[in-house]
Amino acid sequence: MTADARASLPELGADASREYRLGIMGGTFDPIHYGHMVTAEQAREALDLDLVLFMPAGSPAFKQGQRVTDAEDRYAMTLLATAANAAFDASRFEIDRVGVTYTVDTLVELRAHYPENVRLFFITGADAILDLLTWRDAGRMAELATFIAATRPGYNIEQARRRIEASGLPFDVRYIEIPALAISSTNIRARVAAGKSVRYLTNESVIGYIRKHGLYNESVVERTDVL
Ligand code: NAP
Repeated sequence: MTADARASLPELGADASREYRLGIMGGTFDPIHYGHMVTAEQAREALDLDLVLFMPAGSPAFKQGQRVTDAEDRYAMTLLATAANAAFDASRFEIDRVGVTYTVDTLVELRAHYPENVRLFFITGADAILDLLTWRDAGRMAELATFIAATRPGYNIEQARRRIEASGLPFDVRYIEIPALAISSTNIRARVAAGKSVRYLTNESVIGYIRKHGLYNESVVERTDVL
């Protein structure tokens, strides 16, 4: 890990006599929206997290060959959305890493960076967690973090639960239902492209950024087809 990458991480773990709980909110965030914000807030509350670090993936592993908005724009929107919450932080950690973004690399580096009394929780959407076993070095990831899978109402977690159990890997996965996840990045992009309102789906500052930088203006039909 470079000195710059280390400097971009929040300090945590100073008091060796207590456990600190760090949430890592992993996603493409194209764009970030209230579903993500509510997920992070409810995960923080449910798992008693000290801090949630929003970490936009630089070059998402399962989106190679697909069009994804520039990482700097996705990071800037994440920064805007999280700025007002003292328990949230936005991180350049994955966008500054060269090459495909693998979660195992992030967890290995964070584990090496923080003292033992900092416990890692990786938060993401349940659809992504369904494929957890196909992620690079799944066995190593299972040892490094507790996983929090955010589900939409009505989402059946049994398939993911069975798949992970059958693997025999020591994954600790917690499922939390987030009604606000009816909001999706795909839908926001499509609405912007169609000239429709996205107010109240994400922060005003994020909407302002989308407008100012002309994001999602072109037809996203081909993109939504592949997502
Ligand atoms: P995705 O397939 O775009 O997302 C799957 C579903 O989860 C979508 O419905 C998405 O909704 C939702 N979602 C994504 N991130 C979320 C979050 N933090 N909280 C709540 N819901 C969320 O997944 P992705 O964005 O590519 O990947 C998610 C995370 O898993 C990233 O950190 C990525 O690096 C990691 N990952 C790692 C590997 C690997 O290491 N090989 C492979 C795949 C994914 P929205 O579209 O509305 O966000």
